[in-house]
Amino acid sequence: MRYPILSIDSKKLKNNIEVIKSILGPKVNLVAVTKMFLSEPEIVKIYLETGINLIADSRIDNLKKISGLKCQKMLLRIPSFSEAQDVVKFSDISLNSEYETIKYLNRFAQELNILHRIILMIDFGDLREGYFNREELFSDIEKIIKLGNIKIEGIGLNLKCYGGVIPTSSMMKKISIYREKIEERFDIEIKTISGGNSSSIYLAQKGQLYSVNNLRIGEAIVLGRELAYDKRIEGTYEDIVRLKAQIIEIKEKPSIPIGETGLDSFGHKVEFVDRGIRKRAIVALGKLDIPLDSISTLDEDAIILGASSDHMIIDISDSDIKYKLGDIIEFKLDYSGILMASSSDYIDKIIVNEV
Ligand SMILES: *Cc1c(COP(=O)(O)O)cnc(C)c1O
Repeated sequence: MRYPILSIDSKKLKNNIEVIKSILGPKVNLVAVTKMFLSEPEIVKIYLETGINLIADSRIDNLKKISGLKCQKMLLRIPSFSEAQDVVKFSDISLNSEYETIKYLNRFAQELNILHRIILMIDFGDLREGYFNREELFSDIEKIIKLGNIKIEGIGLNLKCYGGVIPTSSMMKKISIYREKIEERFDIEIKTISGGNSSSIYLAQKGQLYSVNNLRIGEAIVLGRELAYDKRIEGTYEDIVRLKAQIIEIKEKPSIPIGETGLDSFGHKVEFVDRGIRKRAIVALGKLDIPLDSISTLDEDAIILGASSDHMIIDISDSDIKYKLGDIIEFKLDYSGILMASSSDYIDKIIVNEV
């Protein structure tokens, strides 16, 4: 086996999916967002084994990788003109907010003789994607319903991304009213109300989703936390994903560099505390693989001192574990850590079954 390795525990992952499903209940469709794993087919298969039928990612290239898997695919990022053709080819549903783009999607859907479904995004204050002006939304809908190969599947909102705005029950009520208004005015059926991401889970826990019947959940499944108030979700695992790297040197050294010091290899000024002679391990992992603030050791007594692009230095003096050369050190990762590690060509991904 070659390290570093990112291990994903399939049993723990399935457990977390089941817990989140039961929080959402039978009326709310769980859309599994797999962008943290770049929608790697082997990992997406684990999701599908739990009965999930809709997989979402923000990159069309990732959805293309799972075109052979039997499930519906949703593109999360508003499409660009240049990818419109791939969007209708490789996704069944996309989130949208621009009529010009939707016209493009229609054109390519027409060429392929398919019906592409869209969810129109409404901005509830987070100020990333979505219609901000209600009249613009309504006048666009008027034009969209005339497009032969586009179907308005639903409306949706996204929060806690750019502005950090926390979803509230009144927002869920308000988007339900949007549906009623649209259905009345245009005599169409709005099937789906997509009420956000992992930050809307606490509203599901409180039974305050109202007519919302769809949530797009990524992080809560993988890290076992809801994202409005960053609380642990009971019954979930938080260590589904682990990064493992191998020790390539162990030596006792002073804690302060010797000689005249300038900036480190990344051009930053570094401060050192004199803690005397310490036992230090170098692992074959670095800032090229993972940002330092996204990673922590499973062994809390092994302390990350720093890293350059390819070497990470860990103080193992206070650990009860007697590390030797060649041993594996395991790390926990946060959201961006998992994203970075998934994207790194230097890190192999394996699926394990540990529970
Ligand atoms: C990434 C993303 C999600 C999933 O967010 P999590 O916080 O991982 O649940 C949902 N919707 C959109 C539009 C996204 O870009």
